Amino acid sequence: MPGGVSSPVRAIDPYPFYVEKASDSRIWDVDGNLYIDYCMGYGPLILGHAHPAVYAAVAEQLKSGWDYGTPVKAEIDLAERIQADFPSMEMLRFVSTGTEATMSAIRTARGFTGKDTIVKVEGGYHGAHDAVLVKPGSAAISAASSLGVPAAAVEHTVQVPFNNVEALSGALEKNDAACLIIEPVMGNIGPVVPEETYLSDVRKVTEENETLLIFDEVITGFRLCIGGAQCLYGVTPDLTTLGKIAGGGFPMGVFGGTREIMEYVAPSGGVFNAGTFSGHPVSLAAGLATLSVLNEEGYRRVNGLGDLLRRMLVDLLEELDVRIAVQGIGTMFQVFFTEKPVRNYRDALTCDTSLYKKFSAYMRDEGIFLAPSQYETNFISLAHSNEDLEYTIRASANAFERLYSLDVDTPGY
Ligand SMILES: *Cc1c(COP(=O)(O)O)cnc(C)c1O
Repeated sequence: MPGGVSSPVRAIDPYPFYVEKASDSRIWDVDGNLYIDYCMGYGPLILGHAHPAVYAAVAEQLKSGWDYGTPVKAEIDLAERIQADFPSMEMLRFVSTGTEATMSAIRTARGFTGKDTIVKVEGGYHGAHDAVLVKPGSAAISAASSLGVPAAAVEHTVQVPFNNVEALSGALEKNDAACLIIEPVMGNIGPVVPEETYLSDVRKVTEENETLLIFDEVITGFRLCIGGAQCLYGVTPDLTTLGKIAGGGFPMGVFGGTREIMEYVAPSGGVFNAGTFSGHPVSLAAGLATLSVLNEEGYRRVNGLGDLLRRMLVDLLEELDVRIAVQGIGTMFQVFFTEKPVRNYRDALTCDTSLYKKFSAYMRDEGIFLAPSQYETNFISLAHSNEDLEYTIRASANAFERLYSLDVDTPGY
């Protein structure tokens, strides 16, 4: 296996730990070490590991077989549930991954508008398909950020900085674009929130330029609140992509939007989309079970834990006189090893990634599993407790002291 792993971020230096089992907020490696997990499968596990409701739903499905190649009732149930929470998704299609969801949403936008150009945000991640694997650079230059991606596959991909509506406006005036695809809260350079009116300005500018707006809510959908970022910020996109939580920890992607646009998808329309495992009964069961556990009160509690952890981290850093940024929203958080707040990809590039790498390694020594890359988001789940957070802060104090060779005995830790 290249790098010894099945996905690059898992290649922790000098070698990754191998997991044997997990439950709630805990994960155990094959050597018997226990970690409080904030990686949480990189996003899907908002209920924590091995939640009994998801286990029961999956076990129940397995008794009846697990793959039919036909429609199943659970598809309708989950579609109706998603539509109730995301009214902008008048029609939707189930696929197997977030990558497929964004690839298909972009194809649908191109098919519907008859335009080739797409606009994305620098540092925005939309999965591993050609059109979105673009090296961030000036809006005029689109270079592939992976070998094996033909120049032709990215020549129609334009990039703009996050939190900058003037740049978007300029790009859309210069390029007649089919769509803008954007993570409404960025999650794949660490969490970066949209500034005050940014998303509503984005909506206005895309509309004025007859460019479809795709919200990639693969992370934020069912993460920030029940209706995702579009509900939280009150901005309605034309198309939405979901994944991660929607499958309850099993492979899942969803794309959907207005009926007018989604009628273009095959077999209703001419935009091709298909998949052997699309709408897989086990993923549908896990997704439905996960969503049935989530409610307003749960979000209030778990988002409160996020606020508390960020506040405790800020207090700790102040006490240690270490000037780095703590960012996030709700259950999403990250420590950025840079002084200024991170507003976009360029800011994120000022981070000292080697310091983060050491910090996350020291945290593993303390029994805390953080995402191993500076440019990932950490996640709190409903299974995390106040005690977990307090332990995490004590561990952070130790890790920062080791990192900065601080010769202080931090009071209270
Ligand atoms: C994870 C992610 C994807 C890709 O989803 P996969 O299921 O890994 O293919 C797409 N967009 C965003 C915003 C993501 O975080």
